[in-house]
Amino acid sequence: MGNRVVPLYYHRVFDKQPDINLLCVTPLKFEQQIKYLKKHYNILRFEDDWENTDRDSVVITFDDGYMDNYEFAMPILEELQVPAAVFVSTGVLEQDTQLWWDELDTILLAGEQFPECFKLEDDIFGCAWNTTTYGHRLNCYRGLHTLMKNYSNVEQRERWSMQLRRWRKPAGGENQTLDVSSCKKLAQSSYITIGAHTVSHPSLGSLTYEEQEKEIMESIRYLERLLGWTIDTFSYPFGAAQEDFTDETIQICKEAGIKKAASTIPGIWYKGSDPYKIPRNIVRDWGPYEFATMMDQYFMD
Ligand SMILES: [Zn+2]
Repeated sequence: MGNRVVPLYYHRVFDKQPDINLLCVTPLKFEQQIKYLKKHYNILRFEDDWENTDRDSVVITFDDGYMDNYEFAMPILEELQVPAAVFVSTGVLEQDTQLWWDELDTILLAGEQFPECFKLEDDIFGCAWNTTTYGHRLNCYRGLHTLMKNYSNVEQRERWSMQLRRWRKPAGGENQTLDVSSCKKLAQSSYITIGAHTVSHPSLGSLTYEEQEKEIMESIRYLERLLGWTIDTFSYPFGAAQEDFTDETIQICKEAGIKKAASTIPGIWYKGSDPYKIPRNIVRDWGPYEFATMMDQYFMD
């Protein structure tokens, strides 16, 4: 019945413990979920024209560009012949670096032996956290995550990260992102579409027009050079309307040649919806029963 489209988004297909930001779905559960979608719904590509679909459909997307998208998700999608879009933050492709929240994670939460206190040196946001127990460090992680997401530009965030790196060497992590070669291989799969997701994954709503333009344009141009074709899809980091992207952001995307942009506003896509505010619904590490229940709910709206 109908022509409703429910866009879904994932981040990682990986078994990580603990997964404090709830970004991971294990490979086993991911496979079960994709099989369920294939059995019950029509599956569209993100870049398809959804206007003329006459069946209830889903669209599968991934944000950020983790290595596990290539290692675990792609083989499952190819095996089941299901398409998905992967939105990549390009800043980590060429270096052995992590996305900024993953670096926070590996400095503050992974491994053993921590200094007793972390003091952030900053004229406005200077602050000290007790870091003796895991609970204390989780508190520090959450505080710094909020500051970095909502109260800093890219340079400031990098300065704060430098202080953390001096404070403790990052422990070996499980947060590997795509590199140039795996990104290319992912892009060559006929089931995968690559879209842009900025360079360094800021909340665009807190940046100036020029800073936003740089983050958006550079990620698109980088992918175009790397892959050799036009990139015309985008997803807003964090994705909440007004907070993480604004009318200015949309304007810049249009000028950069983006045809469709994904948010994290939950909901259903209907014919005639704004292509620059495509809603998406999160998928967690749900088993078969829970996943079926959530899918029913998404289509009930
Ligand atoms: Zn993201």
